[in-house]
Amino acid sequence: MEARDRAGSRLDEPLQSLRGVGPQLTASLEKLGLRTIGDLLRHFPRRWEDRTHFRHVRELEGGETISLRGQLLDVRTKAPRPSMKITEALLDDEGAALKLVWFNQPYVERPLRAAMAARRPLVVYGMVRRSGWTFEIQAPEWEEIGEGSDSLSVNRIVPVYPSVEGIGQTRWRRLIDTALALALPDVEETLPPAMLHEHRLMSAPLAARHIHFPGSMGELEAARRRLVFEEFFLLQTLLAQRRQAQSLHSGAPCLSVDLARLRADLATIVPFELTGAQQRAIGEISGDLASGRCMNRLLQGDVGSGKTMVALASILMAVENGHQAVLMAPTEILAQQHAIVLRRLLEPLGLAVELALGSLSEKAKRGVRERLLGGQSRVAVGTHALIQEGVEFASLGLALIDEQHRFGVLQRQALAKKGAWPHILVMTATPIPRTLTLTLYGDLDVSILDELPPGRKPITTHWKRPAQRDQVYSAAQRLLAEGRQAYVVCPLIEESEKLQAKSATRLSEQIATEVFPQYRVGLLHGQMKPEEKDDVMARFKAHDIDILVATTVIEVGIDVPNASLIIIEDAERFGLAQLHQLRGRVGRGQFASYCILMSDPKTDEGAARMSVMTQTGDGFRIAEEDLKLRGPGEFYGTRQSGLPELVIADVVRDLDVLLETRSAAFALVAADPRLERPESAPLRRAVARAAASFELVNVS
Ligand code: ADP
Ligand code: MG
Repeated sequence: MEARDRAGSRLDEPLQSLRGVGPQLTASLEKLGLRTIGDLLRHFPRRWEDRTHFRHVRELEGGETISLRGQLLDVRTKAPRPSMKITEALLDDEGAALKLVWFNQPYVERPLRAAMAARRPLVVYGMVRRSGWTFEIQAPEWEEIGEGSDSLSVNRIVPVYPSVEGIGQTRWRRLIDTALALALPDVEETLPPAMLHEHRLMSAPLAARHIHFPGSMGELEAARRRLVFEEFFLLQTLLAQRRQAQSLHSGAPCLSVDLARLRADLATIVPFELTGAQQRAIGEISGDLASGRCMNRLLQGDVGSGKTMVALASILMAVENGHQAVLMAPTEILAQQHAIVLRRLLEPLGLAVELALGSLSEKAKRGVRERLLGGQSRVAVGTHALIQEGVEFASLGLALIDEQHRFGVLQRQALAKKGAWPHILVMTATPIPRTLTLTLYGDLDVSILDELPPGRKPITTHWKRPAQRDQVYSAAQRLLAEGRQAYVVCPLIEESEKLQAKSATRLSEQIATEVFPQYRVGLLHGQMKPEEKDDVMARFKAHDIDILVATTVIEVGIDVPNASLIIIEDAERFGLAQLHQLRGRVGRGQFASYCILMSDPKTDEGAARMSVMTQTGDGFRIAEEDLKLRGPGEFYGTRQSGLPELVIADVVRDLDVLLETRSAAFALVAADPRLERPESAPLRRAVARAAASFELVNVS
C-alpha cells in the first residue's frame, strides 16, 4: 500500500482528522507508532474470527469457539465474596439455554438487562465449555442485533486486533472502518500490473480492505498473501539492489586462479582428500576472486565439515596473487587454534602466519603491525585486535571471518575497510535455516558444506533425567577409564556472567572431590583472564586434564579429538542451535562419542527440543526446528541477527512466498536496477520507504 504521490493523500493525514478521535486516543495510538491514517490501515489484525455461521446449543460439544444468537432469559450478579462479583445471564436458543458468565465485570449487567427488557436478540461469541449438564461461555463478546445492518462484528468474519490497554476490539473495528471509508480511494497500487497478473495477486486497494474486513475466508487468504508478497518483495528488491551495487564495484583485486596448481599445492600440504562439498565451495570462491567484482560470500557448514580447508585454499589463492589475507575469529582460543593449523600447513610453503591478539605485549603488537604494513607477512590470524586502530596492510586482498554471527555489522565493515576493497568470505558453523539466510543475507552468495569428511562416527545423544545421574556418571567412568576425555557444561545463567562463573566453579569442585576424585578436573568460564583460559585449553588438549567443566565459552570451534563425551546440565535452558554447537565439541576423532542432555523440562516445548536433539544430528534440520519452536524473533535475538522486522509476513509460514518474491525481485532488478521504468515508479517509492524500516539488514 502506498500513498499516492500527490499532495493531499488522505493516507498521510493525522489520525485526529478521523471522526471520534480525540487527543487521548491519539496519544495511545501514537505509542503504537500509529500517526497517520495510512499507519492505521497497516495495523493488521492479529487474527480473524469466522462469525458467519450461527451454531445452536443443541449441537454443542464443549471446547469449540462459536457464534450463537438468542434471547436473554435472565441476568443477575452475585457476590460470593466481597472482592468477587459474578454476573450470569441465560440465553435462550430455540428452547435450549446457554449460560454466559462474567467475573468482576458488574457493569455488563445494565446493558444486558436493557436488551432483555426490550426483547432485543443478542449475538454472543466465545469458547464454549461444558459446565455440569449445561454449556457456558465465560466473558463472551456480545452485541445486540438490530442496531443496523452495518454492524462490524455480527454475521461476518471479524478482525481481532493486538490488544492494547484502553482500546477495545469494538473501538478498533470502528476506527479502521472509518479510516477505510475515508482513505481507501487513495490507496495506490505499488506493484507493476504485469506482476499482479503473473503472481495472481489481489490489488492493493482490495487487499487493504479485505485484510481487515474480508467477505470470506478465501478473500482473507488472498488479501494476506498479497500483503505478505509485497512485504517480502520490497525486502528482496532492496537486497537485490544492494547486491548489484556491490558487485558492480570494480575496485576488487582481480585474481587469476590456476585451479590445477592450487589442487597440487593443497595435495602437498593437506594429508587427506577434500570432500566434494569442499571442492565445490573452493570452485565457487575462485570464480568470485577471478571475476573482478568483490566477493561477498557466506560459507555455511556444520561443525566439523571442514571450513578451515576452504579458508586455507582461499588464502592460497590470494597469496599467490601477491595479496595479503586475514582470518578474524571471535575469541583468542579460536584464533590461536586457527593459527596453529594454518602455520602447520603454510609454513612448509614458506609462508609465515602472524597472530594478532589483544593480549600480546605492545612490542609484539608493533612487530605484527610493521610486518603487515610492510608486506613481509602475507597471512594474519587474529581477534578483533585485527581491526584496531593502527593495523594496516600493504595489500589486503581477502578477509575471512569465522563464526560471523558473533561479530556485529560494524566490526565486519571495519575489517573490510582495512583493504581497498577486499574480497570477503564469512564462515559460519551455526547452520542458518534457508529462510533466514534469504532474508538476512540475501545480498550474499552462499556456499554450503553439506558433506562431512569420511570416517566420522555419529554422536549418540541421550536425554537423561537428573534422577539417572548415577547411571550417567558410571558410563562416564568407563569412557574415562579407556583414556577418553569429557566435557561437562554448566547450566546457562543468562542474567549474570558472574553467577554463571560461580556455579561453574562449584560444579567443578563437586566433580573433582565427590564424583571423580581420581581424575584431573579443569575449569573454564568467561570471567577468567584470556591467558588463564588459554592455559586450561592447552592443558585439556595435551590431556593434562581429563574432565573440563565449562560454560558456553567452549561453544565455538574448539577441537580436541580425544574428548568423546559431553554432559550438558539443565540442557533445556539452551537453544537448539546452541546445543548442537556444544555437541559438536565431541565426535571429532576416531572414537565413538556421546552427548548426554541432563534435563527435566517443565514445558512441552522444552521436551520437544530435547527429543529433536536425540533424533537428529543434522544441523540444518535442527536450525529449522529451532526456528519453528522459538519463532524468528527468538532465533538469534533480533538485534544481534539483524533480522528485519516483518509486519505481516512470517519466514516460517510464508516460505513459499519468500522464494517466489526472491526470484521475482532479483529478475526485476537485473532488468531495471534503479526501477526507472514508468510502471515501476510507485514501487521505487515504496522501496525507498521500506529501506528505512529495514535498516537493520546491513550485512558486510
Ligand atoms: P569446521 O571449522 O567446519 O568445524 P574444521 O575445518 O575444523 O571444521 O575440520 C574439522 C576436522 O576435520 C579437522 O580436524 C580437519 O583436519 C578435518 N578435515 C577437514 N576436511 C577433511 C577431509 N576432506 N577429510 C578428512 N578430514 C578432514
Ligand atoms: Mg571451524
